Order: sequence, then structure tokens, then C-alpha cells
Amino acid sequence: MRVGVPKEAAEGERRVALVPDSVRSLAGHDGVDVTIEDGAGEGSGHPDSEYADAGASVGSADDAWGADVVVIVATPSADEIKRLRSGQVLIGFLAPLTSGETTRDLAESGVTSLAMEAIPRITRAQAMDALSSQANVAGYAATLLAAREARRFFPMMTTAAGTVAPAKVLVLGAGVAGLQAIATARRLGAVVTGFDIRRAAWEQIASLGGRPLELDFIPDAEAEGGYARPLTEEENEQVREALAENAKRQDVIITTAQIPGQPAPLLITADAVRGMHPGSVIVDLAAESGGNCELTRAGETVVEDGVKVLGPPNLASEMATHASQLYSKNVENLLGLIVGDDGALKLDLDDEVVAGACITHEGEIRNERAREVAGAAA
Ligand code: NAD
Repeated sequence: MRVGVPKEAAEGERRVALVPDSVRSLAGHDGVDVTIEDGAGEGSGHPDSEYADAGASVGSADDAWGADVVVIVATPSADEIKRLRSGQVLIGFLAPLTSGETTRDLAESGVTSLAMEAIPRITRAQAMDALSSQANVAGYAATLLAAREARRFFPMMTTAAGTVAPAKVLVLGAGVAGLQAIATARRLGAVVTGFDIRRAAWEQIASLGGRPLELDFIPDAEAEGGYARPLTEEENEQVREALAENAKRQDVIITTAQIPGQPAPLLITADAVRGMHPGSVIVDLAAESGGNCELTRAGETVVEDGVKVLGPPNLASEMATHASQLYSKNVENLLGLIVGDDGALKLDLDDEVVAGACITHEGEIRNERAREVAGAAA
């Protein structure tokens, strides 16, 4: 079996699907060859020579896209999908809940597509959970971005010229990205408050040294699979009011709240931004799914009454070396499930993890929610 690693073509994407360490362990497997497109590792700090040393052959884009199993990071464009032929396997972030066109193109191409974001979040698949590995990187990067933009120290500083109070940071959404943002802001010495509508998250916020903002007039919103349910409009309004009041006391707000497959909940209104003191900073990690702040524009910085609102796209890619290292390990572990002892492809669609990740196979859309989204796109 041949595994191909194309160079990522999406704008701003610096990550690579397999790093040399993973190539070394795959290439050590009898019957498995790895082909990497030349320059694919440049953005994450891995020159072609490192891949060659690890046992990969370095080739053209056609060589990489022509492999039996093609591994990528970012959702493929229509042109990239046209490079594929029936019977190949494609692994990557495939946006099954948001890009119906991609799913339809994949089905038409006849490839077996396995979406990293659809891997079930069960204990056995934790080492393949790329949503978590990349959200972790993004949460860390968001805090550093906020710290750089804030024009103030995060820690308390006692100096001969006086004492500086620590920054106050509010983190909205305490899933994987939010908890990492809380941990990072705490390590930098900020006073951190965390908010989530899942009550299980309150204890996790506290365990990282944050103060949970316990809006206990909202019933616990934990739904299936540990995700949050969407709030009712009335509940949302109550949350927004409470947050607007709290926002006045903060120097930095980092927002990470998401509901899978839906637009991000609106938590910080334009009025709430205007109520913050000038020089405050909001980093909205949910920018690409509509934003948690009303003023967020994905990929832009909006300044309103002296408050900066940043909507950075793809923050995980900013830390491409470690983001790729973790993603690569996730992919390597998934490949372990579909490679037989003889190095041949062994696709067991009855396996819970493979079945969960499988979006298309032999021209059919096998994932129910992806089928609905693709149907709506048609
Ligand atoms: P996510 O990216 O879907 O959402 C981020 C956070 O936003 C979540 O904590 C969610 O509760 C919160 N949120 C949604 N609407 C909100 C609102 N209106 N106000 C405030 N917060 C809101 O979440 P995630 O990081 O992918 O994690 C989701 C769940 O999955 C968590 O319970 C997490 O512990 C769990 N998880 C399990 C595994 C595993 O078992 N392998 C791995 C990772 C995460």
C-alpha cells in the first residue's frame, strides 16, 4: 500500500498531514510506502531531506495524490478532489457537517473518505482525536495572540516603579480550546474567569485555576456525546446580559463556544463590546463559524470604541510544527486501523471508529448527518 502526502494548498495552511517521525514508523511497516510531495513539510519546519531520511520517496503532486491512501489536513477543494479516482482512500478534515458540496464531490469521485472530525470521541479513539489535538493548539495560540495585543502584562508585576495589577481574562466556552486558553492565561499570571453552559466544565475550569462563572439560572446544557445543546432564544438573551455585565471588568475575552454543525452562539453583543474599557481585546476562535461576538469578522481585526475584536482563521496553523506533530500522530493511529499485517489496505467498515469516520464509500454517502447536509447543499 502506498500512502501519499500532498502539499497543503489552502491559503494560510502551513500544517502537513504526516511528519517525518510518523513516516519513519509507517515506512518501517512491511508493504507500506510513503510518498511526500516536494515541499509539503516546509511550512511546519520539515525539509524534504528529513522525509527522505525517514524512508519516504519525495515526488510530485500527482505522485502524492495518486497513492492508495491520501492523507491531508485542510478540506480539499473541488479541483483537488478531481485528482482522485474511485477506490482510493482519502483522510483529512473533510467538513462533513458544513460543506455539503465537498461531500457530494467525494461521493461522485468514488473514494472512501474518512473525516478526522467524524472520528467517534470514544476512549479507544482518543489518540486519533484531531479535533481535540488541534483545538488544544488553537486555545494556546489564541491566548498568546491576546497577550500580545493587550498592551498590558498578564502577570502581576512588582517593580521599583510601582505595582502592576494582573490582567483579567474571561474565556467563553470551556471545551478543549477554552480549557487550554484558561491554562495558558493562568500560566502567564492572569486572573481568569471561565464560562460554559455545561456544568461539568465548571469543575474543570476551577481545576486549572480559573474561576467558573456559574450562571445557574440556565439549566445544565450538556447533550449527547458531551457536546452542548443550543440554548433557547430566551436563555441566550439571559446569558448575553450576564456576560455584558461581566465583560465590563475584563481586559481580555477569548471566545471558543461552538455547537457542532451549527453557527456559533452569539455571546458578546456589539453593545457589550462598547461597554468594555478602551484597550481591551477580544479573540474570537469561533470566527469561522460566525463568531461568538457580534462584531467579529473572520480574518480581520475590528476596532470599536478602542476595543479590538480579532477573528483569526486557522490558529492551529500558526503553530504548524506542533499542530502537525499531533495531527500526524492522530492520522498515524487511524492508519493503523486500516493497514493489514501484510501492509495491504484492510478497510473494516464494521469497526466503530472506521465506520464513524467514513463519509463516503463506493459512491454512497454513508454518514447520515453528512447526507442531510449534502442534500441541503444540492
Ligand atoms: P466544542 O468545540 O464543540 O465547543 C466548545 C465549548 O463551547 C463546549 O465546551 C461547549 O459546551 C461550549 N458552548 C456551546 N455553546 C455555548 C454557549 N452558548 N455558551 C457557553 N459555552 C458554550 O467542544 P469540544 O472542545 O469539542 O468539546 C465538547 C465535549 O466533548 C466536551 O464535553 C469535551 O470534554 C468532550 N470531549 C471528549 C473527548 C473524548 O472523550 N475523547 C475528547 C474531546 C472532548
